[in-house]
Amino acid sequence: MAIVATKPWSLRAVVPDVSFIGWDFDGTLVHSQRAQVESWRVAFERLLPAEVRERVQAVVRHRHESGRFFGMSAEIFGLLEAAAALPPELSCPEQVDGWVAEARAEAMLSLARGGQLRLDPGARALSLGLASVPQAICTSNPRALAPTVDQVLGDLGALMTVRIFGEDTPPKPDPACWREAARRLGVGWHRAIIIEDNLEVIERLRDEGEVALVIGIAGGESVDSYLGELGAADDGVILVDGLRDVRS
Ligand SMILES: [Mg+2]
Repeated sequence: MAIVATKPWSLRAVVPDVSFIGWDFDGTLVHSQRAQVESWRVAFERLLPAEVRERVQAVVRHRHESGRFFGMSAEIFGLLEAAAALPPELSCPEQVDGWVAEARAEAMLSLARGGQLRLDPGARALSLGLASVPQAICTSNPRALAPTVDQVLGDLGALMTVRIFGEDTPPKPDPACWREAARRLGVGWHRAIIIEDNLEVIERLRDEGEVALVIGIAGGESVDSYLGELGAADDGVILVDGLRDVRS
């Protein structure tokens, strides 16, 4: 079974010879759902004048099929539904992708600078406690959000110099991004610890990742549902409801 940790525990006691720590970004290093939704709202308010729901839905389909909605909530679909229209010159979903990405990146950076996107204190303490271990970020966000990631990380950025963005590898839940992080760091893959909040990614890492340990962040009520989904026959996952009790 996946283990649910309810008391403080030491990561090095579980994996003494860890080769690197792979961090997810949204929901792991930062609690960004509200900011993400706000960035979509800002982007569509700026880009969509009125009407033509079919075109908006074409964009939704394109993003969905290309996996670029990964990790997003149903709220975003609600925003897209509510967003009225695309101007005629923006009938190409790929083109719209670029415009939306740019508008979202600006909005996210502004939110981060305004203090509305903050590093999780437990994640910060853990990362600093593991300063001697190579660390990397793997996020499905586009590279356009790199300045936002920099802003959020602050001094922690010096510990997480390898950053894999959505364009760099096949999208999560494919474990390719984590392998690429190990490759760029020049470290072994089998002694890696991955910290991730998305159940689909946790399952894939467990099933085919071959890493030493996956720390699954399942906040509050989702601990039970994550445990139900992960089920039996696994000792490579520790579920937590936050990182405050994880010691280096
Ligand atoms: Mg996440």
